[in-house]
Amino acid sequence: MASASTRAQGTAPGWAAASAGGALQATHPTLRARLGRIAAGSALWREAVEAAGKLGRRVMVLTPDQVQASAGEGRTGAGIDSNLLAEAMPIAHDGVRVNAVVVVVNLPLIADVHARIGSLPGEHDADLDRILIHEIYGHALPYLLSGTLAGRCADPAEGERASQACAIQRENAVRAELGLGRRVDAGLQGLSLARATSRW
Ligand SMILES: [Zn+2]
Repeated sequence: MASASTRAQGTAPGWAAASAGGALQATHPTLRARLGRIAAGSALWREAVEAAGKLGRRVMVLTPDQVQASAGEGRTGAGIDSNLLAEAMPIAHDGVRVNAVVVVVNLPLIADVHARIGSLPGEHDADLDRILIHEIYGHALPYLLSGTLAGRCADPAEGERASQACAIQRENAVRAELGLGRRVDAGLQGLSLARATSRW
């Protein structure tokens, strides 16, 4: 998965244009809009993204079809589990160094679930913000600020309280700035779509 994603950076058309934002790179208009909204409302987010950019490191935020399209021939298995809402994948060099993280956001699945439960557009967008905050601020940026796999900020371990896990604590700090509620579990209860699905 990591090697496919590494190739994606060099081959995806329009990538240079998307990099104008610095450390956060996305081409999908929905993702770009949400990333802009989060940055506008969160000083913590802006500070971490800017720090990663100064280090020359980046987060590539992709949709599942973008991962598959850029992965190319013979790599149709690349991408995320179709049941996952999102995933952050560090690209490691020499088994240790991390200069880039790929975050895949399953926009079709998120939209489907919200359509099924009849959400308002604002509920869909708020969930997308929560998911982006978790994957990018909770997982991707800690790798980039450390520059190694040792920077991993984990989800709750078995038996650990969610509120004590690194990724959830970071997620909640940015959620607080944006008024997006507080996540208190390891699963989906902190999302509006929790009433329809139980996977994250
Ligand atoms: Zn996580």
